[in-house]
Amino acid sequence: MQCQNYGITRNLERENLNLNPLQRGGVLPAVSRQALYDYGDGYSVCDYCAGRLDEISKPNIMGFLDDLAKFINVDLVRTVHGAREGKFAIMHALCKPGDYIVVDGNAHYTTHLAAERIGLNIIEVPNSDYPEYRIRSEKYREVLENAIDDKKDIKLALLTHVDGNYGNLTPETEIGKICQDAGVPIVLNCAYSMGRLPIDAKSFNMDFVVGSGHKSMAASGPIGVLGMKEEWGEQLLIRSSRHTNKEIEMLGCTSRGAPVATLMASLPYVMERVEKWEEHLQLAQKFAAEMEKIAGVKQLGIKPTLHDLVRFETPAFHKIAQNHPRRGFFLYEELKKRKIVGIKRGQTEWFKCSIYGMTPEQVDYIVQAFHEIAQSK
Ligand SMILES: *Cc1c(COP(=O)(O)O)cnc(C)c1O
Repeated sequence: MQCQNYGITRNLERENLNLNPLQRGGVLPAVSRQALYDYGDGYSVCDYCAGRLDEISKPNIMGFLDDLAKFINVDLVRTVHGAREGKFAIMHALCKPGDYIVVDGNAHYTTHLAAERIGLNIIEVPNSDYPEYRIRSEKYREVLENAIDDKKDIKLALLTHVDGNYGNLTPETEIGKICQDAGVPIVLNCAYSMGRLPIDAKSFNMDFVVGSGHKSMAASGPIGVLGMKEEWGEQLLIRSSRHTNKEIEMLGCTSRGAPVATLMASLPYVMERVEKWEEHLQLAQKFAAEMEKIAGVKQLGIKPTLHDLVRFETPAFHKIAQNHPRRGFFLYEELKKRKIVGIKRGQTEWFKCSIYGMTPEQVDYIVQAFHEIAQSK
């Protein structure tokens, strides 16, 4: 049998400006590309392991985890394989099948799947609907209190810090307090925030935070961050009775090579860019405002946006598609001609995008391209 090369070459990120929000925060700095190369072999971080991944000192995973814990202000931190695995581990440790959890209405599908995998019932806090789709703390309180009055034993609450549909930033500190006062532990899902904007789990009143290395922390991934308050360590990081130094929810060891090596190599870079979040945000707000100058382009979600992921409804482009020989593909193709990618092919009614990490000149170029394309017939 002869194998082909499966098309395993990629130059998209090198040759284009990529607007796909999923990919903006996961681009590696040069130092992490080197780490990716050095740690590409399987089990590469295990050269000097004495049985606990989180305690390896060469490379210094232990020191890295200490710094990471300080960076997001938690007592205990572990790496997992992604934000979803972090949420699953928390739900699995705190809940049993049939239990109830409260979740915001903009939660990621992986929150739903993690709950489903365990057999949990989800009580949802609705968003404010079109056009803002906002999650309000009063609504969160109302749904939580009603569920408790209903004699439901709520084992856990989850809040999506920034959702992947509208890029809405939620009032985490208020909602954390509401849950704390109700005696319900709460997880903040920071997949789109940790590594972009400052996370302070304690001042946010959070019991747990999860993050995504490949989404927002400039890591190759798959890798996630799971942080918690001291008091949850005993329950979540319980050890095996048979393999007494191995943590059960972590299945012993989690990230065992390049994913953790790139996350480690990127941490100083990530800490620095988080300090500059205000600048990143201003550029995103300017981008959204310039896009809205096109008649028939409107930003959805909270305005001005509080995150770089922005969603637009774009009747302007949809109208052009109706009569264009390339129909719905014209937008993708016109952008591609200008070396701009990351908007889904064939989609013209709406799209979401992010200019995170781009220079103001690159953003100007993109804005101009959209303005030009809006003039097409
Ligand atoms: C991308 C995303 C996830 C999934 O992150 P993984 O690290 O790939 O598991 C979870 N939640 C939100 C809000 C996301 O945007």
